[in-house]
Amino acid sequence: MYEIFADLHVHIGRSESGKPIKITAARSLNFANIAKECESRKGIQVVGIIDCASPYVIQDIENFLKNGEAYELEDGGIIYKDKVCILLGSEVETSEKGRNGKCGSAHNVCFFPYLKDIKEFSKEMSKHIKNITLSTQRSDISGYELIDIVEKYNGILIPAHVFTPHKSYYGNCTDRLQEIFKEKYNKIFAIELGLSSDTNLADTISELENKTFVTNSDAHSLPKIAREYNKMQVENISFKEVVKALKNEEGRKVVANYGLDPKLGKYHRTYCDNCQKTIETKQPVQICPYCQSDKVTFGVFDRIELIKDKPESKSPKNRPQYIYQVPLGFIPGVGGKTIEKLIDTFDTEMNILHKLSKDDIEAIVGEKIANKIEEARTGKSRVHAGGGGVYGKIE
Ligand SMILES: [Zn+2]
Ligand SMILES: [Zn+2]
Repeated sequence: MYEIFADLHVHIGRSESGKPIKITAARSLNFANIAKECESRKGIQVVGIIDCASPYVIQDIENFLKNGEAYELEDGGIIYKDKVCILLGSEVETSEKGRNGKCGSAHNVCFFPYLKDIKEFSKEMSKHIKNITLSTQRSDISGYELIDIVEKYNGILIPAHVFTPHKSYYGNCTDRLQEIFKEKYNKIFAIELGLSSDTNLADTISELENKTFVTNSDAHSLPKIAREYNKMQVENISFKEVVKALKNEEGRKVVANYGLDPKLGKYHRTYCDNCQKTIETKQPVQICPYCQSDKVTFGVFDRIELIKDKPESKSPKNRPQYIYQVPLGFIPGVGGKTIEKLIDTFDTEMNILHKLSKDDIEAIVGEKIANKIEEARTGKSRVHAGGGGVYGKIE
């Protein structure tokens, strides 16, 4: 058994032929480049690419498999240069009964062992989605129905960024996942925390006690891959082993979650869309205390405060540690050139954030910047909470 790093939520911007997949994501974010980036700069051994149900991406995967550097594993997943295992995934937006009588929608990341499975899944989902070529389009089915389709093609379903205000189960559909999945709730064995929450916040909800928490980047560009990731203990890298780790089976498990301080996330606190202020009241509010507008985007922290059913956060015994990390790009004074220089010297951002001594870093970028990185690494920098789609800031 050994330890690996996995980021299970990476988008695709364009297909290699230039067709748009996720319009808001970077052009350079295509299947082959993600594999290369994980192998050479990120130190990630398992990457879940979640736009693989698009027929344009399927075409790219077929070409990728032809060039000889990658092949499908018997236990599922695609292995690239014998170093990175790519899991073929699809993010699906489901239609749910929302809170307050409104329509709700939630995101789910689904993974499949083989290309043939996701191809079949894509075909079936095209009956439920208007444009299957694009990323995360709304489907006309609920999570309760989706999980059956996913299982039909040997896949697994993980509710994505479960607390975010617009597109998630807790964010705008329900107070309890059990109400969505009903008797199928035990088929859900992992949930994705999202950038604006952490283990401590999620462990105030008792129905999550025996679910594995996963922390993923939701990257829309190559540099953002691995801004959140999981450390897993597995026998080898494959679809089958990752599923076992998520299910906590036969000694396979998630041993640590690495993620942003949730205050740095885009939706940590409630935000007034009218006066554009983050609202940091002790109790959650529906009305902006500054301008009395009711046009507020609920924060993840505030939403959890409202729906939690434990008096205080208490994690089950086997819950892995959640380790805060501040990606270099969030540290004031650390610009693109500095990051390039650091990664050229030390290979991966992961080394810089977790392994190297301050002296090593100082030798490359000087004392002033090294001090800032050290403050961020040790949790000493002050963070101004994000909200309403704007990231938090280090002061
Ligand atoms: Zn999403
Ligand atoms: Zn306001």
